[in-house]
Amino acid sequence: MGLYKGPRLLDFAKTPLHLQFNRYVLTGYRPVSSAHECLGSLFYVHNELGNIYTHGIPFFLFLVLMPFSIPWTEVDNIWICLVHYLACLCPTVGSVVYHVFMNHVGGEHVYDTLLSLDMFGVCLVNTLGALPIIYITLLCYPIIQQAALLTYILLSAYGIYCATTARTNVLRLQAFIWQGLFRFSLFLFRVYGSGVGSPHSLRLFVIMDSLAVLGGLVNVIQIPERFSPGLFDNWGNSHQIMHVMVVCSIIYLHWGTLEDLAWIKTFQCPNEG
Ligand SMILES: [Zn+2]
Repeated sequence: MGLYKGPRLLDFAKTPLHLQFNRYVLTGYRPVSSAHECLGSLFYVHNELGNIYTHGIPFFLFLVLMPFSIPWTEVDNIWICLVHYLACLCPTVGSVVYHVFMNHVGGEHVYDTLLSLDMFGVCLVNTLGALPIIYITLLCYPIIQQAALLTYILLSAYGIYCATTARTNVLRLQAFIWQGLFRFSLFLFRVYGSGVGSPHSLRLFVIMDSLAVLGGLVNVIQIPERFSPGLFDNWGNSHQIMHVMVVCSIIYLHWGTLEDLAWIKTFQCPNEG
């Protein structure tokens, strides 16, 4: 790949301190660049190119193809469809902007802002993606349903605050714990309580969350590059593996939500006769 020859790339020790976050990625760092030069880096190989395209390509595919599979007109509350569509788009768009411009000449301040944007996108998929699940699980209990939606939004606001101000990967991962526990309790309510939803969707949602957690862990423990520093500089390192897992997780969220939306058409709560 290479529509034009890029600038001379840097080794780990020569890159600015705020970009030295993975000591097992030894080469391929872009030099500090203008916004225009950052965009130019889409067309030559460096150690962020894999990160950019593993989220950039899925973003465009989701943007264009997903609306065709969403049953916009068959659902009473169209906000469920809209919220779900936005949830699926958020994490990839924030990520692409972060990875393209992280070496911007604005330095650490710009980097921190972009990282917060990236984390904000992840928070939004956690937040918006779960709202249809909460809505459907508690469909037969309107008051509890409204309270649960509000509680989850407040929890999410706290999660967004933690995730966008956290300074380490471990703290960023922790920011999602409360939302995760909330979703887990919903899943339990579907299995053991009187929560409702498609019998096929729960398995898909559990896979969705498992993939996301696994991706986050791989990113934190920096496998496989930890075992062979330098070998995965451009391709196949932990961050790219996490990106792929995040995309798979979004696809499972989409499948699960489609199952629920198809199911809701024929369901009637017992108390409604
Ligand atoms: Zn990323």
